[in-house]
Amino acid sequence: MTTPVTIIGAGLGGLLLARVLHLHGIASEVYEAESSPSARMQGGLLDIRDHNGQPALEVAGLTEEFRKLILEGRKAMRLLDRKGDVLLDVPDDGTGGNPEVQRGELRQMLLDSLPVGTVRWGHKVGGVRSLGAGRHEVAFANGAILVTSLLVGADGAWSRVRPLLSGTTPEYTGFSFVETHLFDGDNRHPTSAKIVGGGAMMVLEPGKGIVAHRERGGNLHTWVMLDRPQNWFADIDFTDPGAATARIVQEFDGWAPELTALVTDGETPPVLRHIHTLPVEHRWHRTAGVTLLGDAAHLTAPNGEGANLALYDGAELGKAIAAHSHDTESALAAYEQAMFVRTEAANAEAPELRDLLGDSTPHNLINAFTGS
Ligand SMILES: Cc1cc2nc3c(=O)[nH]c(=O)nc-3n(C[C@H](O)[C@H](O)[C@H](O)COP(=O)(O)OP(=O)(O)OC[C@H]3O[C@@H](n4cnc5c(N)ncnc54)[C@H](O)[C@@H]3O)c2cc1C
Repeated sequence: MTTPVTIIGAGLGGLLLARVLHLHGIASEVYEAESSPSARMQGGLLDIRDHNGQPALEVAGLTEEFRKLILEGRKAMRLLDRKGDVLLDVPDDGTGGNPEVQRGELRQMLLDSLPVGTVRWGHKVGGVRSLGAGRHEVAFANGAILVTSLLVGADGAWSRVRPLLSGTTPEYTGFSFVETHLFDGDNRHPTSAKIVGGGAMMVLEPGKGIVAHRERGGNLHTWVMLDRPQNWFADIDFTDPGAATARIVQEFDGWAPELTALVTDGETPPVLRHIHTLPVEHRWHRTAGVTLLGDAAHLTAPNGEGANLALYDGAELGKAIAAHSHDTESALAAYEQAMFVRTEAANAEAPELRDLLGDSTPHNLINAFTGS
């Protein structure tokens, strides 16, 4: 290839692709909307799966660095009821399968593996248009414009590249999450740290739940999950953290104080995330010079697969481009055909939010774990 591959989005998928291309001597430029790597907190723990996330990191030559990031013992999982009584306690099995790492540390590892200057921070794509013959013009909000003959949309849920390939837009699932952080839980929030335990803690009821993880340094990262229309949240003023927290915690009236403290004692402003998905069978017809990976291609509600699939897409696309470096159309066609089949199967099998927060929760989860 004579010109660099243009990748939009420095998430896990886009960076993994850039790394694999680099290993094959193929230049890429990654354009990222955020102003710097530390512009925002980078989500929580990810279990990097043996069958997709880890093989992708192997292709990227980063297995050793990845292993240094693993948080031991974090596979422990406990399910509680609203009073804080333990319904199910599954210890870390110690086998090291699907280990947990901090998303921010994984992203930084990928950034460190690329030549300096590969990522162009502060480049938010505003619009993209076809110039014909596989060439595309990318216009950035900062006024910059570029023309490329190989464009990859790795720009997540609200991809600006996706409309070149597909008219499908994400739909609201009916669920939203509110994210909070309590830092140094063991010393500063001991009752909440105790109830979260060594790994993940879940309290699930029909239509609502609290899920928390023990992260590095005993930080407690919580997702409040609510089954509500978007306009229910629109009436809450999230620019006023105190008022927003008070309104959200009202939904958990009667729950144990150690549980509600995960919300009310939050040390960062609560962040609202509406959960959207693309249809599980989302596909498009081959269009010269452009493709998608990760959430831009196959957004789902959180099901433990998304980051892993994004990493795997990056590895597979990188390998395909390297194998067909004089015929990128063949590379994109091969990558897409395999990706469509792989992601549809993975997402069809993965647990759905409406199962976790449906009428039969938490008994269905207990049955799934105990085999009863
Ligand atoms: C609450 C929650 C919990 C989750 N938990 C897990 C989990 O435990 N395990 C798991 O595997 N997955 C999990 N996921 C899913 C996972 O986060 C995504 O599937 C994964 O991040 C997708 O990676 P990506 O590289 O495709 O996109 P992203 O990580 O979204 O990265 C896209 C990048 O593109 C940038 N960008 C966006 N728009 C533009 C633009 N216009 N111009 C330039 N840059 C742009 C963004 O700033 C971002 O850096 C979770 C998701 C959520 C919401």
